[in-house]
Amino acid sequence: MARLPATRSVALMVLMVWLPACASAQPAPPAASAPLRAPPTRPAAAPAQLWPVTRLRGTDCVSVRDIAERFGLKAAWSRPELAMTLSDKSGVRFTFETRQRDFYFDGLRIFLGEPPLLEKDTLWLTKLDVIKLIAPLFRPVEHLALLPAAPRTIVLDPGHGGSDPGKENQTVGAQEKTLTLDVALRLKKLLEAQGWRVVMTRTTDTKLAAEQALDLQRRADVANKAKADLFLSIHFNSVERDAARVTGVETYTMAPQFMLSTASDQPDEMTRVAFPGNRQDYANLLLGAELHRALLAGLKTPDRGFKRGRLAVLRFIECPGALVECGYLSSNAEARRLVTPEFRQKIAEGLAAGLQGYAATLAALQPKPAPSAVTPTPAPTSR
Ligand SMILES: [Zn+2]
Repeated sequence: MARLPATRSVALMVLMVWLPACASAQPAPPAASAPLRAPPTRPAAAPAQLWPVTRLRGTDCVSVRDIAERFGLKAAWSRPELAMTLSDKSGVRFTFETRQRDFYFDGLRIFLGEPPLLEKDTLWLTKLDVIKLIAPLFRPVEHLALLPAAPRTIVLDPGHGGSDPGKENQTVGAQEKTLTLDVALRLKKLLEAQGWRVVMTRTTDTKLAAEQALDLQRRADVANKAKADLFLSIHFNSVERDAARVTGVETYTMAPQFMLSTASDQPDEMTRVAFPGNRQDYANLLLGAELHRALLAGLKTPDRGFKRGRLAVLRFIECPGALVECGYLSSNAEARRLVTPEFRQKIAEGLAAGLQGYAATLAALQPKPAPSAVTPTPAPTSR
């Protein structure tokens, strides 16, 4: 069992705090790009958003048993004092493991800001992880006032271009900039057929600016100028170590303010900043989960995780957005798959399914009209 420093260890003052309003002191998004809809029947800060908080190791934490109770789930150790599952009739919904930042939600691998702590015969998550990740993931309807309407306009951003090839595999003869553009054009076609308006940051082998920081800023500018409802940046991955072994997909959305990026275990100068890309933290979360799940289902590829980062293209967008890493060019086997049009079409189809899933989720969350006012509703995808 993990031991706490003697000083603050079990100074267990249980507090009731308002969530997630404490973390949402961010400006509202521009109405044109992502109108917020206040549900008529549900106040923004409902009692359901109260969590019992305990101070552990200097951080406000919520016990996994309290999370289970709130969600009507059954908490149990799957490995004593190491891993806990939260289950309902349909089976295991969450798996948390002490000192591991990744957890599983309905089989999807997602990263917490901080690893769970073991204390008092249960695991504990930080309050920030509960209010900005676990609760909105499990109960998006309780965060409806902070979610946008279903999207219609999307900006697709094929990563790199021109003098910046991105990652390369010289053995196979593959360049990231070419693959990203091909996948984006395939995805554009699929989305337009489903009624989306699609704007591209580039349609040819070019950069948006010679200097990299400006190039990335311009990609975000395209989304903001288009008053887009969504932004998706498409990339391919690479690793130095274990290159032959590492394959699969990763999805990134903005790390919420104060939450550590998945790549960091220490705060940095950006951790405390509320970026424009944080205005849609709850939508980012739903978008990332839908995209990641659909990509994995479509490609049947290893789950490298739904992660959080403060990536340049995501920091300055004013709409929900994500960045997907659709495969590893550092693996020769994966690179050989990626250079086939069939596999790239599957990637595009997986992304389209994820985007449709996100739109359908948002549409389904909206309050239903009163029975007397029921009229035929077009499918969310046709907006
Ligand atoms: Zn890239």
